[in-house]
Amino acid sequence: MLIDSYDRVVDYLRVSVTERCNFRCQYCMPEKPFSWVPKENLLSFEELFEFMKVAIDEGVNKIRITGGEPLLREDLDKFIKMIYDYKPSIDLAMTTNAFLLKGTAQRLKDAGLKRINVSIDTLKPQVAQDIAGKDVLKNVLEGVEEALKVGLKVKVNMVPMKGMNADEIIDVLEYSKERGMSVRFIEYMENAYAKAGLTGVKAKEVLEILGKKYEFSDDGFDGASPSRYYTMKDGYRFGIIEPYGDDFCKQCNRIRLTAEGNLIPCLYFDEAMSIAESIKRGDIKGAAAVLKEVVRTKPEKNRWGGDDAEVSSRAFYETGG
Ligand code: SAM
Ligand code: SF4
Repeated sequence: MLIDSYDRVVDYLRVSVTERCNFRCQYCMPEKPFSWVPKENLLSFEELFEFMKVAIDEGVNKIRITGGEPLLREDLDKFIKMIYDYKPSIDLAMTTNAFLLKGTAQRLKDAGLKRINVSIDTLKPQVAQDIAGKDVLKNVLEGVEEALKVGLKVKVNMVPMKGMNADEIIDVLEYSKERGMSVRFIEYMENAYAKAGLTGVKAKEVLEILGKKYEFSDDGFDGASPSRYYTMKDGYRFGIIEPYGDDFCKQCNRIRLTAEGNLIPCLYFDEAMSIAESIKRGDIKGAAAVLKEVVRTKPEKNRWGGDDAEVSSRAFYETGG
C-alpha cells in the first residue's frame, strides 16, 4: 500500500496520455502556439503500461486516462485493454472533452473502460465556441449520447465562470439529471496558462444559486473523490470541487503521470520525478523507488486558498487536471 507522509492512502493514478488538445479552453490552454513535447519524448503505451503495472502492484486500484485530450492519441482502446487485462477489477475511467467520442465510445467500452467524465461547461453553441475556441457543442453532445447508449457511466464536469456560463449552472444540472449523469461543479483554479481576467464562481455561490431552486442535503466527502456531494429530495446527487477550501487536500489520494513519464505528487506544484529512464531500462525496482519517493514527498496542501495564495504554474493540459 502507498501511504504518504500525512497518512493519506494513495491508490489513484491519473495518466495523461498526451498534452495536445483539439480545444483551446480559456481556463486551460487558450494560447497557441506553444511548443508541444516532441512526439519522440512521449512514452509509448507499452512503456506507460510497464509503470502502471508497478503502480497497481503497489496498491493503485483506480486509474483515470486523461490529457490534453486523450482521444487524440491513436489506439487508446488497445492501451485500455492492456490495463483491463492486467487487472479487470481496476476502476478504469477517462476524462474527455467528448468531441471524438461518437466514433470511439463502443470500442473503449469493449476494451474495458468503465466510466467517463465529460466536460460540459455550457449548452449554448456560441458560449461553447467562446470557451473552447471553436464550434464544438454538437459533437460533444452527440458524443455523450453515444457513451450513454453503449453503457458507459458518465459524469459531467462544469467549470462555472462569471460573465460566461455562470447563468447555466441549473441548465447543466438539469441536462445531466435528465440523463442520469451526476454533475460536478469545479471551481476555476487559477494557473499561469489560463486566459487573464477569468473569474470563477466559488462553491458558496454555486450553492446559493442551486439553493434558490432546489432543496438538498450536504453529504460531505465520500472519501474517494475530491468532490463534496449533495443529495436533492428526489435522490439526485451532484458534487462541488472546491480546491480553494480547507478540506480538498485532506481527501487527496492521487498522483499524476504525464505522457513524458513525469510523476507529479500535486496538481498545484511544479515538482515531479521522472520514471522514463527506469522504465526504458527495464528497471522495475528503480521505477517503484521513484513511485514511493513521489508518494513520500506529496505536499500537505495546495496554495490556491489561504493567505499565501499564488497562481499555480502547473499546466492543466499537462497534468490532466
Ligand atoms: N480534455 C479533457 C477534458 O477537458 O475533459 C481532459 C483534460 S482536462 C485538463 C481535465 C479537467 O480539468 C476538465 O474537467 C477541465 O474542465 C478541468 N480544468 C482544466 N483547467 C482548469 C482550471 N483552470 N480550473 C478548473 N478546472 C480545470
Ligand atoms: Fe483541452 Fe480539456 Fe484543456 Fe479544454 S480542458 S483545452 S478540452 S485539455
